Amino acid sequence: MKAALLIIGDEILNGTTLDTNSQYLARQLEGLNIKVVERNTISDKKEAIIKGLDHCLANADLVVTTGGLGPTKDDITKKTIAEYFGVELVMNHDVLAQVESFFAKKNRPILEVNRLQALVPENCMVLQNKMGTAPGMLIEHNGKILVSMPGVPHEMQYITENGLLPYLEILNNGQEIIHHHLHTIGVGESRIAQQLEAIEDSMPAHIGLAYLPSPGMVKLRLTGVSEGENNTKSQIAGLANSIKQTLGTIVFGEGNTSISQVIGEQLLKTGKTLSTAESCSSGYLAQLITQTPGSSQYYEGSIVAYSYRLKKELLGVKHDTLTEHGAVSEETIIEMVEGGRKKLGTDYAIATSGIAGPGGGMPNKPVGTVWIAVASQNQTITKKWQFGSDRARNTHLTAIMGLEMLRRLLLNLPQF
Ligand code: ATP
Ligand code: MG
Repeated sequence: MKAALLIIGDEILNGTTLDTNSQYLARQLEGLNIKVVERNTISDKKEAIIKGLDHCLANADLVVTTGGLGPTKDDITKKTIAEYFGVELVMNHDVLAQVESFFAKKNRPILEVNRLQALVPENCMVLQNKMGTAPGMLIEHNGKILVSMPGVPHEMQYITENGLLPYLEILNNGQEIIHHHLHTIGVGESRIAQQLEAIEDSMPAHIGLAYLPSPGMVKLRLTGVSEGENNTKSQIAGLANSIKQTLGTIVFGEGNTSISQVIGEQLLKTGKTLSTAESCSSGYLAQLITQTPGSSQYYEGSIVAYSYRLKKELLGVKHDTLTEHGAVSEETIIEMVEGGRKKLGTDYAIATSGIAGPGGGMPNKPVGTVWIAVASQNQTITKKWQFGSDRARNTHLTAIMGLEMLRRLLLNLPQF
């Protein structure tokens, strides 16, 4: 099946809002082996929507639109779709009840325009939206499928996961799409591809391997379609094992997991605790660690010490260390991690100090120079990283690599 995305909204066109919906949708559909052949972004004008629908329905079996379903006058997608198919908008009582209960729960008065959100094209199947008031709408027409969803990302995601994907899975009649994810860290996509060349060459045609990179990490996804008795499931499990063996310690997890979750599981298992002493990651490391539910059982907290003064007063870094070697140095990071661990009374600690940029670089310490240390009671490990020039990316990589160094310490794996 081929799909086309129609992203509706002037704010996307003019760059005010970054279109994350189409990335999300493309990934979800690919997961069902549905090929996204086009991603179109258009204005929220009637003529543009009609032209877009014509174009997408001519080129794909499934057309998914987002945006323009709200209660305001500028939201005209629903009206335009009804006109396009020459059908009336009718009141859907399930949706009305849902809209009313949405407002009741929030203790907000409901307006007439909100009630009008329960009007849907008479030829549509409603896809429930529990996150908001505009329902998703699915229309089957001449062997094609049109799905229209609100633009608000978390509403669109809810409808996709609870309405659209289950519907498409049923269409896949009897076929089960099997996915297996492997998470790697610290090695680039092309080097991984090189190492996996032989495995990829030997892979059967009905199984695919996708590389999904994000800063510092590459997620590998094996996908196959299982039909009746074929053994796709066990073939994928076998391939996942060969990949793990080939890549070794850079694989930190499988399935739905994260580096912070993997560390959490290990700390829970051993009953140990963790704290952080952050300079250049300034709380972002704490944020990543506490994204894992239940992290309060092993994570005690963080000291964000940005200035020399707080590095000295809160972490016990020596004045002479700072003046002789600077804040971004091995000497300082050792005192930060050891001082922080003792001060916060935990079994393990991570510390970060670096030049996130874009300013502040020096010839011997260019922007992107970051020292990270991890420590236990009897071991301190440091590493100097050289990241790039982008501040947000540097902060992110600092936190990710801090977690990875801790994982290696916890599991007794060699460091980088
Ligand atoms: P609403 O009821 O909020 O009006 P809507 O269906 O009319 O919902 P829009 O008005 O198009 O949707 O957008 C609502 C919000 O969602 C805006 O903040 C917009 O920036 C955001 N949004 C819309 N489309 C996208 C997209 N493709 N990617 C990311 N965000 C989006
Ligand atoms: Mg709107």
